[in-house]
Amino acid sequence: MKQNAVFARTWYEDTAIAPPDFGQVALDDCAWDVGIIGGGLAGLTALLKLSQAGARVVLLEARSIAAGASGRNGGFCTGGWAADDAQILRLLGGKGAAAMEEIAEGGLLWMKERMHRTGWESTAATPGVLRVSLSGHGAPGDLDAQALAAFVKAPRYRHGAVSYEGVHFHPLNFMRLLAREALEAGGQIIEQAHVRGAFRTSRGWHIETSRGVCRAQQVIWAGGGYGEGDAPMLTSRILPIRTYIGVTEPLGEMVLRHIPTECAIGDTRRAGNYYRRLPDGRLLWGMGITAFGTLSIPKVKAMVLRDIAAILPGLADEMRSAGRGIDYGWAGNMAYAPHFLPLVGEIRPGFHALTGFGGHGMNTAPAAALSLVSQMQGNLGDPTPFSQIPRPPVFGILGRIAAEGSYRWRILQDFRAEKVSQSHQGQ
Ligand SMILES: Cc1cc2nc3c(=O)[nH]c(=O)nc-3n(C[C@H](O)[C@H](O)[C@H](O)COP(=O)(O)OP(=O)(O)OC[C@H]3O[C@@H](n4cnc5c(N)ncnc54)[C@H](O)[C@@H]3O)c2cc1C
Repeated sequence: MKQNAVFARTWYEDTAIAPPDFGQVALDDCAWDVGIIGGGLAGLTALLKLSQAGARVVLLEARSIAAGASGRNGGFCTGGWAADDAQILRLLGGKGAAAMEEIAEGGLLWMKERMHRTGWESTAATPGVLRVSLSGHGAPGDLDAQALAAFVKAPRYRHGAVSYEGVHFHPLNFMRLLAREALEAGGQIIEQAHVRGAFRTSRGWHIETSRGVCRAQQVIWAGGGYGEGDAPMLTSRILPIRTYIGVTEPLGEMVLRHIPTECAIGDTRRAGNYYRRLPDGRLLWGMGITAFGTLSIPKVKAMVLRDIAAILPGLADEMRSAGRGIDYGWAGNMAYAPHFLPLVGEIRPGFHALTGFGGHGMNTAPAAALSLVSQMQGNLGDPTPFSQIPRPPVFGILGRIAAEGSYRWRILQDFRAEKVSQSHQGQ
């Protein structure tokens, strides 16, 4: 049987530092101040921050730390949110949008400060993210097609903008180092503890897991796009959306000829490509989004080859001649609300949401976690902009159909925009 790509082994796992030793934590009959569900970047940041403040906190992870999106993503870390600026302005107004921008920038700085610490070298942080547009729209950049050729030999790119504020990095190593930091601050982590339900009682929250039961005064749900059905009050507001990554065999000089830049590169299409050279001479390639189903690993690999040929035909030709293919193909789940903004804050007394970061979580998940923890500690006088974000239901299967339809519609629009711009260019 062909293996499903959702939990396929990744290049990150094969090049990662060892996970920290989580020790033996007895779950049964323990009472915690806070129980965090989900060991991705959101949950780990909340664990660190609460533990540093002296709270007794346990993080419960269904699989292993960063087994979800946080340990298997593209490794881009930039400012901003999954929703675009116009959408944020429309939903939150000028003041809210400015506050959101500041929070997102804070998340980026928080991440970069760690990446540059002594002892965190394995995060392999590399500055520079190039945004490119195939249609001339969406990348308000100063680089035209000719200037872009110094970065990447991709004949379909029309415009681009490079920023050295953004970085790309090894996300799994980052998460393991963050878990270690949280343990050193006194936090507790229990892996292979799948939370099946959380119920409010007179003694706080009663959390049932595959490894036993515990009690906590407060709960933070940080299950991302993986806990479908486990927290119905949240999963009715969040859709799991799947996306794919492939990694080539080592390509040596060949990849340098076609991608001379060390920057990570992403295009402005909704279901576009994002890619970057890896330190061992491979190319990491991200693509595709769907609300339904999962591809097998061979299909992901085939899709990567097809996409590389469509964007970097010269590289695809050289790979074919040299017999170089794709070593890794995997999938990951992102959590999306219909408006692409996150769900952060108390949704029942003592039960807090920390999810919905979509395909842009590497700065926003820690930023939101820091804000949520400050709110829980009563440090923020005014409500945060998160409290203004609407929480519409996703309507189960109907929501998925709508999301799939919307993605396909955007793909068509992107295709049309590129064709129109090509015809203008030819005139
Ligand atoms: C393929 C891919 C590429 C991406 N590329 C980028 C990128 O380049 N840059 C960027 O900024 N963002 C990117 N993203 C998005 C980013 O990875 C996510 O937004 C971010 O990791 C979300 O973090 P999280 O902690 O909310 O969720 P996750 O990292 O998914 O963590 C959730 C955790 O909760 C656990 N869990 C779920 N349910 C339960 C339960 N019932 N009990 C216990 N544990 C549970 C899961 O096992 C998982 O470990 C990408 C996402 C994917 C999938």
